[in-house]
Amino acid sequence: MSTETTSQDTNPTCATCTDQLTSFQSGLLPEYDRETVSEHLTTCPQCRIFVDQVDQSRRLLASAPPPEPPVDVSRRIAEEFASSSATTDISDIVARLHRLAMTLGVDDPDDLVQRTLLAGLERRPEQLGYTDLAHRLVESASTSRATNTTVTEAAPDPDLLDVDSEPAELYFPDFYEEGPDLGRHVDSPNVWGRTDELSPDEDYETGELYEAADQAMDQLPAQTRQLIQLVDVEGFSLTQAAAGLDLDEESAARELNRGRIHVRGALDLFLTGG
Ligand SMILES: [Zn+2]
Repeated sequence: MSTETTSQDTNPTCATCTDQLTSFQSGLLPEYDRETVSEHLTTCPQCRIFVDQVDQSRRLLASAPPPEPPVDVSRRIAEEFASSSATTDISDIVARLHRLAMTLGVDDPDDLVQRTLLAGLERRPEQLGYTDLAHRLVESASTSRATNTTVTEAAPDPDLLDVDSEPAELYFPDFYEEGPDLGRHVDSPNVWGRTDELSPDEDYETGELYEAADQAMDQLPAQTRQLIQLVDVEGFSLTQAAAGLDLDEESAARELNRGRIHVRGALDLFLTGG
C-alpha cells in the first residue's frame, strides 16, 4: 500500500496535469516536470480527451468571424493609404487593429490605431500587413502604459477566479480528493458529438456555438480574457502577450490556462447539457 502512495506522490495526477497544461505546451516547465506531464498524457486517455477539447475550444475562438468593419477610418489615413503602395484592405486591417486595441484596454483605442497605421505607412508601406502592425500596436500599448504609471488597470479580483464564485465559475473537471484515485478525473470527460473537430459547420448551429464561447469569455476577468484574445485569437506568442500586458510569463501562463479551461468547460456544458 505504501508503495502506491509513493508512486502517486511522484507521478503527476490528472489535476496537476490539467493545472500545468499551458505551461507545458508553452515550454515553461522545467525538464523533470515536462517529462512527467508528457508521460502522464501518454498513459491517461481521460487527460488526452481533456487536452484535445481545450485545443478544440482554442481553435473555435480563433475561427470566430472577424469583427464588423469599424467606426471610421480618418480621412488622413484613407488618403495616405490610397496613395501608398500598400495592397492590403484597409478596412479589414483597421477593424482588426481596433479589436486588438480594445483587447489591450488602452485609454484611446482609436488614437492608438491611427498612430500605429501612420507610423506603418511612413516606414515600409509596400510591406504593410496586419501582423506587423499588430506587433507595433502591442508594443506601443505596453510602452504607453510603462511611461504613464498613473493609469494602471485594476488587478483582477482573485475572487472572480474562485471556483466557487458565481459569475466566473471555472468549470474545472472534478477530481477525486481522497482514496487511491486521488487527483484523477472523477468521470471521464464527455465526448463531444461524433465529429473529430469542434466546428460550427457540423452538428451545431453556427451562431449558438460562437455565442456560448463568447459568453464564456465575458465571464472571465479582463486580463484573462485579454490573454486568450492575444494568444489564441490573434496568434501572439505567450511571451509577446505577457509583455503587452506587463505580466511575467509564468503568471500569464497560469492565467491563460485557467481561462482556457473555463472556455472548454462552458462549451462542454453547452454541448453535453451539463
Ligand atoms: Zn490524467
